[in-house]
Amino acid sequence: MSVPPGSTIGILGGGQLGRMLAMAAAQLGYKCHVFDPGEAPCAADVAANFTRADFTDRAALEAFGRTVDVATYEFENLPVAPLEVLEAKLHPSTRSLAVAQDRAAEKQFIEDCGARVAPWRAVASLADVEQVVSELGTPVVLKTRRYGYDGKGQAWIRDPAEAASAWAAIGEEPAVAESGVEFSSEFSVVVARWADGRHALWDCPENEHGDGILRRSTVPCSDAVALQVAEAREAALAIAEALGHIGVITVEFFASQTGPVVNEFAPRVHNSGHWTIEGAVTSQFEQHVRAICDLPPGDTALVGSGAVMDNLIGDDVNRWPELVAQAGAHVHIYGKGAPSPGRKMGHVTRVRP
Ligand code: AMP
Repeated sequence: MSVPPGSTIGILGGGQLGRMLAMAAAQLGYKCHVFDPGEAPCAADVAANFTRADFTDRAALEAFGRTVDVATYEFENLPVAPLEVLEAKLHPSTRSLAVAQDRAAEKQFIEDCGARVAPWRAVASLADVEQVVSELGTPVVLKTRRYGYDGKGQAWIRDPAEAASAWAAIGEEPAVAESGVEFSSEFSVVVARWADGRHALWDCPENEHGDGILRRSTVPCSDAVALQVAEAREAALAIAEALGHIGVITVEFFASQTGPVVNEFAPRVHNSGHWTIEGAVTSQFEQHVRAICDLPPGDTALVGSGAVMDNLIGDDVNRWPELVAQAGAHVHIYGKGAPSPGRKMGHVTRVRP
């Protein structure tokens, strides 16, 4: 049953993804209610309502649930158990969240879907790490099972002697240890799935990272990546299907010699899909709203011959006077206040005619 325009969409998390979701929802006539523990989350600036409460506050979640017709999340490090009070209205469900927030469960799930991942093991002690390094060889990357993002909670072991320092660097937390993948490029599959299994895919962006943070996404991808897109889309759809996911899900890949290797997935709209705001007929944000409200899928075709999205990280945002003066530069500033190093402050998309 569709949730019609005029209804209220609840958004858990008040960052830039929530902000852009709320803006897309407003275009279709929905109101948004943002739930976030922060004092002034940037999504609240563009939403009709804002609840400031902790994600563990069941009473606040219940009250929030009574004010919304459908709820979604823009952030995956939410505690799952308290969300049960919202479950009947929540898309995607807590299942997508629970799998995505534990790197070991996620890798196992991806493998069970028949997709390729880097050789990996779950580790819980330095002895485990040393054992994995001797089994898999170097390089190995340690990633904390929980609460990692943008390269945080990660440490590389390029020589077996670095095992102890890497284990200390991630705070001796339960982690996965995975082989470093030799890849020519990174790319992602952004897909929206509806409750009845319909889905919509965009062109695959090719993604460039620096210090573990996305810097640039380009569509269309290079010819070398294009050869791997069909297999990657099949893997992404298998993951979305197995989760029973409703809404947008993004699967990140390495283009390796042996084919696409899944790095991870995010059960939500994604930075590598920001180009769709101006570069595609329907953006990932509008499509997410369409999927969770059960409106028909929008057209995902490119509007020009391609698009390039550059993130504005930290002080990059101070270049705004020059950027807003450039013809054809679509400047997005997230309104997060003072920049700090490594923080995503905005992005710029340029569409090629
Ligand atoms: P993640 O937080 O897992 O997305 O990792 C951030 C970035 O680190 C990725 O986009 C890659 O550039 C790099 N990276 C992560 N895992 C691996 C790996 N197993 N092999 C090679 N590069 C990796």
